[in-house]
Amino acid sequence: MNSNKYLPILSVVVPCYNESKAFLLCKSELQEVIEVLIAKGKISHESHLLFVDDGSSDDTWEQIMSASTSSLLVKGVKLSRNKGHQIALKAGLQYTKADITISIDADLQDDTRAIESMIDKYHEGYDIVYGVRENRSSDTFFKRNTAHLFYKVMSLLGVNQIEQHADYRLLSRKALNAFLKYNEKNLYIRGIIPMIGFKSCHVYYNRKERVAGESKYPLKKMLSLAFDGITSLSIKPLRLISFLGLVVSVIAFFIGLIAIIQKLLGHTIDGWASVMVGLFFMGGVQLLSIGVLGEYIGRIYVEVKNRPSFFIEKTTDIHD
Ligand code: UDP
Ligand code: MG
Repeated sequence: MNSNKYLPILSVVVPCYNESKAFLLCKSELQEVIEVLIAKGKISHESHLLFVDDGSSDDTWEQIMSASTSSLLVKGVKLSRNKGHQIALKAGLQYTKADITISIDADLQDDTRAIESMIDKYHEGYDIVYGVRENRSSDTFFKRNTAHLFYKVMSLLGVNQIEQHADYRLLSRKALNAFLKYNEKNLYIRGIIPMIGFKSCHVYYNRKERVAGESKYPLKKMLSLAFDGITSLSIKPLRLISFLGLVVSVIAFFIGLIAIIQKLLGHTIDGWASVMVGLFFMGGVQLLSIGVLGEYIGRIYVEVKNRPSFFIEKTTDIHD
């Protein structure tokens, strides 16, 4: 690589929530990757790891602090409380001043060898490099299938996102600045990135087992991410409600017509049960529809209040 060339500063942003067991493994592996890239002259020696402690209740922050005192490559910010993976990631992306960011999970499920390929793509002129999983065989059966179903539902609802890509990606400063202009609270980062445009490409890798600790994404958080993803990127559910309303009304109209004809023909309508079934069915459809409307209205409420998404409580930088 040309040594006169300006070398970009890389910041590897790692959200951490109760990652006490995985932290050291993660730090050493990523540190090694960065050191190799610096030695190869692909990135500036000011490149670093930026750990975002998402309000952990274990000693994750203490570990970040002590790592930062023993290595200049390690930096950290601590959020005032647990805000969830997406917000923690955004906090890190907003905090860093680097020329390039790569976001990655702390559990090393995403193969760190892809980082070098991402940097190479950056040097080829790409602004966004998506890390895409080649297989999910290391995930549990449940996780694999719910994730698959999630992608299916999302694409049916018209949400444009890269299949098998989570939040392992490189962003150039240009792409990052564009992303940071999206000021939404209802955050689903992997749905926003494809919207911003710029030159992008994929890098493939195999997803591994979590190095240590348990998943911090229980079903409840996964469902909440799915709802955020759908409601922040698609209004199709609202249209589906209108469509469903139309279909049910047309059916009801014909049933009414049949009932009148039957009456005129002298047949009495025997069918208290069928009326009740219809009633309950309609009640169900209406409650469901109101629920979907509620989901959107709730999110509008959150956006309108425009509350700050996070607060940085501490950083490892003495100048902050
Ligand atoms: N995470 C976070 N805040 C949370 C939950 C998770 O910062 O409230 C981080 C977590 O520490 C990890 C990443 O998000 O670095 C992905 O979480 P995890 O690996 O547990 O999710 P999974 O891979 O099981 O979907
Ligand atoms: Mg994981």
